[in-house]
Amino acid sequence: MADDCLFCRIVSKEIPARLVLENEHVIAFRDINPQAPLHVLVIPRQHVASLNEAKDPELIGRLSLAAAEIAKQEGVAESGYRTVINTNRGAGQTVFHVHLHLLGGRDMGWPPG
Ligand code: 5GP
Ligand code: ZN
Repeated sequence: MADDCLFCRIVSKEIPARLVLENEHVIAFRDINPQAPLHVLVIPRQHVASLNEAKDPELIGRLSLAAAEIAKQEGVAESGYRTVINTNRGAGQTVFHVHLHLLGGRDMGWPPG
């Protein structure tokens, strides 16, 4: 756990979150400021600041597979959903504990802003 990391605090339950999935490696919870009817953040329990620091292919792969599981659970797997990892400030990363956004429940434009 990294001191002063918001998402590590969510992992340790110091800060409450609306969890949708939890296993040995990842936890997923609803975004506090949802950008779609379904907006979930999937994060590794282990602190990794961003995709730039990631070394473990299993850790990163687990985020996508958890998102697919949640999409099915939440009923958006057939209609469609988007998964996004923002890396560093130019891409909009504001919390430096790697996380995958799962967005669904509405039509989405392309390219993203
Ligand atoms: P980023 O901008 O780093 O890609 O995504 C960070 C996300 O974390 C944002 O969508 C933001 O709304 C969400 N967020 C920030 N603080 C909290 C919090 O305390 N709880 C939850 N559930 N989401 C948060
Ligand atoms: Zn962290």
